[in-house]
Amino acid sequence: MNSITKKKFKGDGIFFVGNNALDVTGSCILIKYNNKQILLEIGLYQSNNILDAYKVNSAKFKFNPSEIDYCFILHQHLDHTGLLCRLIKEGFKGKIISPHEVAMFLEPMLLNSAYILSSEARMLSKRYKREYSPIYYEDDVYWMLDYVYEYDEYNTIYKLDDVVSFKWLKNSHCIGSRQLQLFLRGEKDKTSILYTSDIGSLNTKNHYVENTEICKDFNRISIIESTYGEKTRKSKKSREFDVEHLRVAINTVIKRGGKILLPAFSFSRTQELLTTIYELFHNDKSFIYDVVVDSKLSCDMCDLYGEVLTGENLKLWNKVYNWDNVKFIYDKSDSLACIKDNRPKIVISSSGFCTNGRVLDYLQEYLKDSKNMIIFSGYVGSDSSYLSYRIKNFKSNKTININKKPIPNKADCISLSSFSSHANHDELVEFGSELNTEKIILVHGSEQAKKDLQQDLQKALSKKNKTTRVLCATKDMVVRL
Ligand SMILES: [Zn+2]
Ligand SMILES: [Zn+2]
Repeated sequence: MNSITKKKFKGDGIFFVGNNALDVTGSCILIKYNNKQILLEIGLYQSNNILDAYKVNSAKFKFNPSEIDYCFILHQHLDHTGLLCRLIKEGFKGKIISPHEVAMFLEPMLLNSAYILSSEARMLSKRYKREYSPIYYEDDVYWMLDYVYEYDEYNTIYKLDDVVSFKWLKNSHCIGSRQLQLFLRGEKDKTSILYTSDIGSLNTKNHYVENTEICKDFNRISIIESTYGEKTRKSKKSREFDVEHLRVAINTVIKRGGKILLPAFSFSRTQELLTTIYELFHNDKSFIYDVVVDSKLSCDMCDLYGEVLTGENLKLWNKVYNWDNVKFIYDKSDSLACIKDNRPKIVISSSGFCTNGRVLDYLQEYLKDSKNMIIFSGYVGSDSSYLSYRIKNFKSNKTININKKPIPNKADCISLSSFSSHANHDELVEFGSELNTEKIILVHGSEQAKKDLQQDLQKALSKKNKTTRVLCATKDMVVRL
């Protein structure tokens, strides 16, 4: 009997209830087995269209939160954690299972999310003249944190009850991120499932992360991400190439009296860029320029890195954090003063897609001057609804609209693609073809990304004489267990 079935099915299975069945955001998968219900993450659906996002994020859950026993959280990004508070509000009484390094970041990241969701709800209420209440409030974040249970060790089997046990595997996606191997015991049989969540590069190593591990055990089902599954994502420029590009760019712009702006996500990318710039310039006595981290959340994340890291990672981070050239700007008034200050400098500010945050204030000033440079790192969005995409791709446009104001588009712009925290197409093929599994289900990718990866991964598996089937997840698909 075919184990893939339609949504009316009520028995044991894997239910693709989240938007990650369709695209790269809104991760949520439900597993039912032997009277237990487990969620693999519960993320926010993120979109430039705030009405669309509001509708998806407030839609009725396709499960009853009070019947869920466990919700696993594998890394910090909001598209994997952003609806935890709603889960609690709607009756969840189980355990949120998370590694310590991930749990530590939940409070500031979800408080920031609650703040943004509140301002978006206000904006919608004003625009459509009806009441849109925020999806959750700051108080809900503190309430949710009481449900978090921390499990830390790699390669240790943790038994949660007679049915559910699990093991964490290493993942280079971001600090503390894990893959999950889930062991389920039934009345007569047992099964295991591998879930990668977002998976980091196999070959390009960021600072402060583990190497991505390839699971050697047999798992009946493996669910893997496919963000960069498209064939066109075959190779990235090497990190060494990008680091050298960054060094030359900084030297060139500073020599001509310009300023450099690096739009970056507060968590992970900001710290990676800051560490890279430290390594390039801390021994250079002539480098007397400020390297500014400007965003409250980015600064909070930098503070947390000091609390979470250990050993050699902590030693390196302390050197970066205490480097004389680094300035952390928490307050808006200091930020405005920094924008007015005309000395050459490097600024790292959020958000990475330039959708909101102080990076918009910097862009309004810095874009006007041809001496300046905007440096993007990693993904800049998929279409012109993203300001980052427009700045990167519309160099011929004389002006760029920011907050409905036309801004002269004169600054230089470069992009460093190797700073992405996702495995690329070839690495995903390599990873998937090494797995020992009956079925691989692709999630967290566009339709094209999943299709391309399915084809190439199936070929690679056949070459290795493996009978594994590769399937693309679809919304409301169920894989029977
Ligand atoms: Zn992620
Ligand atoms: Zn993700």
